[in-house]
Amino acid sequence: MNATLQPIFDEVLSRNPGETEFHQAASELLDSLDPVVRLHPEYADAAIIRRVCEPERQIIFRVPWVDDAGRVQLNRGFRVEFNSALGPFKGGLRFHPSVYLGIVKFLGFEQIFKNALTGMPIGGGKGGSDFDPKGRSDGEIMRFCQSFMTELYRHIGEYTDVPAGDIGVGGREIGYMFGQYKRITNRYESGVLTGKGISWGGSLVRTEATGYGTVFFANEILRTRGSSFDGKRVVVSGSGNVAIHAAEKAAAFGATVIACSDSGGYVVEETGLDIELLKDVKETRRERLTSYAEERGGSARHIAGGSIWDVPCDIALPCATQNELDEKAAVTLVGNGCTVVAEGANMPCTPDAVRVLTDAGVAFAPGKAANAGGVATSALEMQQNASRDSWSFEHTEARLAEIMTAIHDRCLETADAYGSPGSYVDGANIAGFIRVADAMLALGV
Ligand code: GLU
Repeated sequence: MNATLQPIFDEVLSRNPGETEFHQAASELLDSLDPVVRLHPEYADAAIIRRVCEPERQIIFRVPWVDDAGRVQLNRGFRVEFNSALGPFKGGLRFHPSVYLGIVKFLGFEQIFKNALTGMPIGGGKGGSDFDPKGRSDGEIMRFCQSFMTELYRHIGEYTDVPAGDIGVGGREIGYMFGQYKRITNRYESGVLTGKGISWGGSLVRTEATGYGTVFFANEILRTRGSSFDGKRVVVSGSGNVAIHAAEKAAAFGATVIACSDSGGYVVEETGLDIELLKDVKETRRERLTSYAEERGGSARHIAGGSIWDVPCDIALPCATQNELDEKAAVTLVGNGCTVVAEGANMPCTPDAVRVLTDAGVAFAPGKAANAGGVATSALEMQQNASRDSWSFEHTEARLAEIMTAIHDRCLETADAYGSPGSYVDGANIAGFIRVADAMLALGV
């Protein structure tokens, strides 16, 4: 880091003690900005980089709720409204026991530049709770979501802050939260949340968008290298919404998706996973991958624990969670001949893993570019809500594909222009940052 950026990073460390994931996300961005500070002294004069590292507003709140046994439970809720230079704060809500301010801030920070890269009018934010939905009944999930929204509603709105889903928050949770927002405010304000159900204001393709978009992005990488998904062996980590739809689209493009994982281990099936059975097990029945392996029998093997990155593949799509692919895993992937890694999750590769992959010439697409299809389709949902319209699956998917191609090209062009040709990391960081920085400059201090 150069002499202008280092003190800014030191300030991030001292202002946000203990928030290691946020420090990691900030250092990854600042590491790319060296040529930007040299070419744009006007950003330093307006303290743009310092300001972009400080959220506009951070909300922390109490979420009490009653479990099925009648006991009162207590969780903590968060919403970090990071940057609204380009539009209302926009970003998902994560319900997972690991959630604390440092996780929400890393996600919110990434979201600023991801949303900027889409070219759409959305600012960056993120929220969530340390609530663990695992093993909770439908009634418990509903009461938790209602209590969460009972506080959150006063901070959000179509023109203010528009949450969506993330890990632990899907269509069911968005439904319960939207119901509570409507009950409290007496307003059918469709544009206040995205990821809504298709029959009440949602957009077709939103569910599939993050996973499909990641594969569209990887497909562009392959295309620029004169290659394609056809006949490639693909490993996808995770088995949530992003992983399942990435697997589905990769298979549709002719790849063989041979492995996916959950917190209990992973399944390998050399002939290709049965995506329909996977959806039934994970989405409908909400069971573990052991059920998939038992029912599929024969060709499918379940490995408890261990690392899914030991499975040799041509293309790796980490779609589970942050820091799931470390240096050792990256060395294994390189050794096994993997040529493309595209992040479906947010920051799944550690900085050491990214270094190993890029040093070895693996094409590496960071999440803020490769997984931007989810939030881009949220912005398409907002457009449909604002115009009281709903678009066909084909039209919406075609828009998503165009957006992903545009992000891919913007990353490469920017990387070229700023002296690191071929680097999707520098391209994404610089292109996203410049769009936000120019808007902040225009809006004054
Ligand atoms: N949680 C998703 C992400 O990480 C989507 C956010 C949204 O649609 O607002 O980008």
